[in-house]
Amino acid sequence: MPEGQKNSRYKRQSKVKIITGKFIKVKCEKCNNEQNIYSNAAMDVKCLVCGEVLSTSTGGISDINVKILSVLN
Ligand SMILES: [Zn+2]
Repeated sequence: MPEGQKNSRYKRQSKVKIITGKFIKVKCEKCNNEQNIYSNAAMDVKCLVCGEVLSTSTGGISDINVKILSVLN
């Protein structure tokens, strides 16, 4: 497996935290809905209530766009 190539584009955004292989509890900033999402989701995860994108999939790792309340597992 090629390990040498890592993403060279690092954006420093305080909201974006990359946590791999965990369920995390997040809070939608739009409607305050609390929702558990998987950090390695293959697709974008949207808020079940208002449809706001909570995390964006970037090739197996999710960029979390909203506030992380807790990491579950
Ligand atoms: Zn929402």
